[in-house]
Amino acid sequence: MSDHPSRVLVLNSGSSSVKYQLFDMTDHSRLAAGLVERIGEKGARLTHTRADGERREVTDAPLPDHAAALKAAARELAADGYGLDDPGLAAIGHRVVHGGKRFTEPTVIDDAVIAEIERLVPVAPLHNPANLTGIRTALELNPRVPQVAVFDTAFHTTMPEHAARYALDIATADAHRVRRYGFHGTSHAYVSRRTAELLGKDVADVNVIVLHLGNGASASAVAGGRCVDTSMGLTPLEGLVMGTRSGDIDPAVIFHLSRVAGMSVDEIDDLLNKRSGLVGLCGDNDLREITRRMAEGDEAARLAFDIYTYRLKKYIGAYYAVLGRVDAIAFTAGVGENAANVRAAAVEGLVGFGVVVDEKLNTTPGGEPRFISPQYASVAVAVVPTDEELEIATQAFALVSP
Ligand code: ADP
Repeated sequence: MSDHPSRVLVLNSGSSSVKYQLFDMTDHSRLAAGLVERIGEKGARLTHTRADGERREVTDAPLPDHAAALKAAARELAADGYGLDDPGLAAIGHRVVHGGKRFTEPTVIDDAVIAEIERLVPVAPLHNPANLTGIRTALELNPRVPQVAVFDTAFHTTMPEHAARYALDIATADAHRVRRYGFHGTSHAYVSRRTAELLGKDVADVNVIVLHLGNGASASAVAGGRCVDTSMGLTPLEGLVMGTRSGDIDPAVIFHLSRVAGMSVDEIDDLLNKRSGLVGLCGDNDLREITRRMAEGDEAARLAFDIYTYRLKKYIGAYYAVLGRVDAIAFTAGVGENAANVRAAAVEGLVGFGVVVDEKLNTTPGGEPRFISPQYASVAVAVVPTDEELEIATQAFALVSP
């Protein structure tokens, strides 16, 4: 064993929850994982899972804020022998949603970095404040260990200007930092690299379309390891149909709803972000439930599925054109990894593009990266499970390792 500190704690602080995972970076193993939910609410709860699968629940501790939540998590980690002040801890990696144009790489956190993340709050009002709370609390708990911010937007900062800009009045756009930033970047980076490994090629030599389909969903076009386009924009609302978000719509829908339906900006924001997408179309956002309902002949569920997969196909076609040559299409996240029917429908009719899935391979479940296209196809279609936490740990560790 090396004497160097080799453990990395990854923190993902949301508005009312904190997720954490502790990694041993010598072999990338997960030493512990946990979730604190309903912070500041009644029924706050911490669930801590050890590497051997033993799970502990803490429901009686008062968890009024993120500081209390992180302290409770730190206590659980210490009980397993991994105190936050342990010299074996090499870094704490924080997921930060919005890094704007400036943060193109993982960054060691200092006062200037905190101030810049704070400055980006207007473009990420829901996420950055929660991320900052996590950072500040972790710094209080252990000011000595390096803390690293890993940004959801960073992987997309390589997008060329013609992909990153909207065709808006340029002075107005620049004055208010309106441009396409993209999100889920950590996942797109990880999955595009893993797809190249699966192909047995150097990431610099392959072009990949990554489809990250979770509750939020985004597509990216990755050329030689660099993102050249992605479907989310200024906020995560643009692009694909998602669990509760509309994805692309004519922006005039907003004026129309304001003028004709008398809805306020906040009401329309809520409509497009929380009451649209699959849930708005059929009342469910879980593909398992939608699939079950389709089998019973439910027409609303069928229409929601068709709109969801049609939008996916349009993005596959668009990114095929953007890349010129596609080596692989990689499906990832909850829907992408599990919903064979979504994968099949998204590529249906694309045989002329060299894109086909093999029904047997597609419907055989598995947890490892795998191909679902037949050998003869010129474009490989793959299922590549994402691991954003491991990617954050890897990037943070690379930055602080001697
Ligand atoms: P998040 O964006 O919250 O991280 P996930 O990546 O965990 O989301 O994806 C959650 C979604 O994955 C669920 O809403 C559901 O639609 C889908 N999903 C999960 N498991 C399955 C499955 N076995 N079959 C089909 N869909 C699934």
